[in-house]
Amino acid sequence: MSSHADGEGFENVRKLINGICERMNISETCRLRLIGCERELTVRFPVKLDNGHVGVFTGYRVMHNDTRGPAKGGIRYHPDVNLDEVRALAALMTLKTAVVNVPYGGAKGAVICNPKELSLAELERLTRRYAAEIAVLIGPNLDIPAPDVGTNPQVMAWIMDTYSQMRGYSPGVITGKPLEVGGSKGRFEATGRGCMITALLAAKHVGVNADGSTVAVQGFGNVGATVARLLAKEGCLITAVSDSRGGVYNPNGLDLEALVAHKTETGSVVGVKNAEPVTNAELLELPCDVLIPSALEHQIVEANAASIKARIVVEGANGPTTPEADQILYANGVFVVPDVLANAGGVIVSYLEWVQNLQVFCWDESQVNGYLHSMMTNAFAEVLELSALEKAEMRTAAYMTALRRLATAMTARGIFP
Ligand code: NAD
Repeated sequence: MSSHADGEGFENVRKLINGICERMNISETCRLRLIGCERELTVRFPVKLDNGHVGVFTGYRVMHNDTRGPAKGGIRYHPDVNLDEVRALAALMTLKTAVVNVPYGGAKGAVICNPKELSLAELERLTRRYAAEIAVLIGPNLDIPAPDVGTNPQVMAWIMDTYSQMRGYSPGVITGKPLEVGGSKGRFEATGRGCMITALLAAKHVGVNADGSTVAVQGFGNVGATVARLLAKEGCLITAVSDSRGGVYNPNGLDLEALVAHKTETGSVVGVKNAEPVTNAELLELPCDVLIPSALEHQIVEANAASIKARIVVEGANGPTTPEADQILYANGVFVVPDVLANAGGVIVSYLEWVQNLQVFCWDESQVNGYLHSMMTNAFAEVLELSALEKAEMRTAAYMTALRRLATAMTARGIFP
């Protein structure tokens, strides 16, 4: 399975948008605006490395659409990332912000690099230079980045600092910051918490008792490790987890605390005690009630979709299931909570962080988690209801919800002559 888009990522999203626009009779103008990106910036910039040499890096910032508000989307640091993938992820953000009804558009950014091979000082120099390069596009009312694969709160703080040096103190330019510089309580675990909320709602809908149910999680990063920990607290048995080096499996449930300690010590979940090794591909096909792909895109594909044994798939990652695989899962009665809904907890709490920054105010964690819970629950109920009404799977219903909001907003704003 390819872990990165190879030219088909954005095409897949475009196909889905085209299909829904046709089904819903959405205007041609609206459709044409959504199947392309509004602005795309490619930057190439030098970074001084610790050995005295200068590396030249490539980065992107793509704004897909800003009809419903400033564009919003994470920044990915990954060696295989490419412009097509960034476009696809930016478009997914436009849909995601519309599904959960936060007043944002969609964007995404990336730098082609392996952050694991950079020292902290190199990472800071790379981040500050990238931030200066994309400063022409970002801003609290324009485009507001956030963390994604390979970036973290520290990276967000450097971007906020670099932008603030150029434009004055601007915590609202970026979300996912550390608490000390305007971050929100609850943001770090928001995406995983949102996945947990939708997994429990899906289990209830499908008739799976969460207590004692079995869960396999691919990817043990911010999203994967958080959702695993929170679902274990709800009584679920986390039977398998993995990261880029491989996975571990115990049908009686893994010890989450031991896993986190092992990962902190060795950098991977591989080799933890009381578990047998599995590959990332094998993990997807294990018997379990809930499968949560939380690593990269294109993991559930035509070749393995029929072997998925889970009754529920909760897409923690963006784009883990290809359209062909989606059809197979639907035909086999697997209930899929699509990425634009399942992992929207991150952008919801990013929105709450931004609101606090603009108000120069700080909410307590229970208030943040309360908003997150009610916004996720409302969005899930709305999409589920439409999926029953339209006899469509959850992804189609989520896209329909999003495209209806986008089309209405575009019509209301009109076209500048
Ligand atoms: P992360 O960098 O914290 O973790 C990624 C995890 O995936 C790591 O455990 C890594 O080892 C593993 N991984 C990397 N390559 C892999 C491979 N080829 N096979 C298996 N595992 C692999 O990233 P994250 O923030 O947890 O993001 C994970 C996914 O969730 C991404 O698709 C991201 O776009 C999506 N997402 C993240 C957020 C967020 O707030 N962090 C929000 C929405 C969606």
